[in-house]
Amino acid sequence: MLIRPQTRVLIVGLGKSGRSALRFCQGLGAVVSVSDAGAAGVENAHWLAGRGVKYELGGHSRDFFEAAEVIIVSPGVPDIPLLQEAGRRGALVIGELALAPDYLRTPVMAITGTNGKTTVTTLLGDLLRAAGRKVFVGGNIGTPLTDYLSGPQEADWVVLEVSSFQLDMAGGFRPRLGIILNISPDHLDRYKNMEDYALSKMSLLRNQLAADSAILNADDPMICRLLGENPPLSQRYYFGTSPGLEAVIDGGRICLTKGPAAEDFQLPATLTPAPNPANAAAAILSAGTAGCGRADIAAGLKAFRPLAHRLTPVAEINGVQYIDDSKATNVGAAAAALGSMERPVILIAGGLSKDGGYELMRPLISEKVKAMLLIGEARFEMAAACRGLCPLELHDSLEGAVERAAELSESGDIVLLSPACASFDMFRSYGERGEVFQKLVGRLVGRLAGKAG
Ligand code: ADP
Repeated sequence: MLIRPQTRVLIVGLGKSGRSALRFCQGLGAVVSVSDAGAAGVENAHWLAGRGVKYELGGHSRDFFEAAEVIIVSPGVPDIPLLQEAGRRGALVIGELALAPDYLRTPVMAITGTNGKTTVTTLLGDLLRAAGRKVFVGGNIGTPLTDYLSGPQEADWVVLEVSSFQLDMAGGFRPRLGIILNISPDHLDRYKNMEDYALSKMSLLRNQLAADSAILNADDPMICRLLGENPPLSQRYYFGTSPGLEAVIDGGRICLTKGPAAEDFQLPATLTPAPNPANAAAAILSAGTAGCGRADIAAGLKAFRPLAHRLTPVAEINGVQYIDDSKATNVGAAAAALGSMERPVILIAGGLSKDGGYELMRPLISEKVKAMLLIGEARFEMAAACRGLCPLELHDSLEGAVERAAELSESGDIVLLSPACASFDMFRSYGERGEVFQKLVGRLVGRLAGKAG
């Protein structure tokens, strides 16, 4: 066991997952301390004091790291030198997933990929529930795994959304079923290069054994190349658009060719718009592989409710549709959004740059975009990468961009917020960015509806 009574555990990062890990370790009788470079504030100090924990907020000090036998690092914490030093000294430096081999008694389905993780994790939870399975859905999506580890562990399946940062400290984590959705540039501020980032995603499969399953996107060239170079031991099942795969995407239909649930599934309207058919194919194939029946899968598809700020239609004003895709925080997601647009687009993009790589959007911008309205720190970089394709404007605020989009748009157009960037330069989160967009569009409804010809 990694953690015994009196083991000295340091939790680095006092977010949701850090607090949950703290409760779990205290439950095991460990002597826990906490270090967080931010998180200063009376409320946090009060909470920690109430739990009898030694802590430092607003910075990291060597003493805390040197005293620890086990260090549990939250996914948002960067790779700070003190962690590396502690690792060299012999401390065990891990993330919450590395606790699974010792403490988790329920089999895991784990979902990773650059985009679509939350959608697939949620949908897969719905499919399994419709089939009468008890599920715990969590991980990167909301409830940390350690919350489940602290409880009675009564689920049939744990369905976990897993980020690359979590995988980087996952130790012997071994999902019974591992799903890799897609790999496109993201988080290149934290990885040396694209290859490094992609290998982090692929590491989901590295501890799998022959009895385990890998659900993989046959249309993703990076995934296929890396599988060829380093094939996992597990059984591989593919989804994609080519005939002959275990799950074939055909517009809004998914043809499952494998297992007892093998048949065609017509997707409900909530899942038909691209890129969701690929997500649905991954979830259906996973549920089928886990033994769910046809009727249950069909019922689970109907139960799925679309998630906020992901290609969410906000309003139609005088023939112009406004769409909130604030969750598109990287180039791959924004490109998928543009790819799914069937009307001319006025694109509002920009924010905090993580990746660059905006050149990847150039063909889609040429084809679909009437004008780009750029905001945030990345606006200059994006403008340079997309110059010459369509009229470009730089704006200081989302409000300015939305107002300008309303002026420029004509009946039949779409105004799409799909930033291809993180939100933290101007907003607290992608959620707040989307809420502000929706409010601004709401104001336009009040002012413009019925006025234009
Ligand atoms: P994640 O949890 O990986 O961030 P989400 O399901 O929250 O994924 O979706 C994030 C963004 O990615 C949204 O803008 C969504 O429209 C887009 N997206 C969802 N699925 C895919 C996919 N399979 N390929 C590309 N983009 C996707």
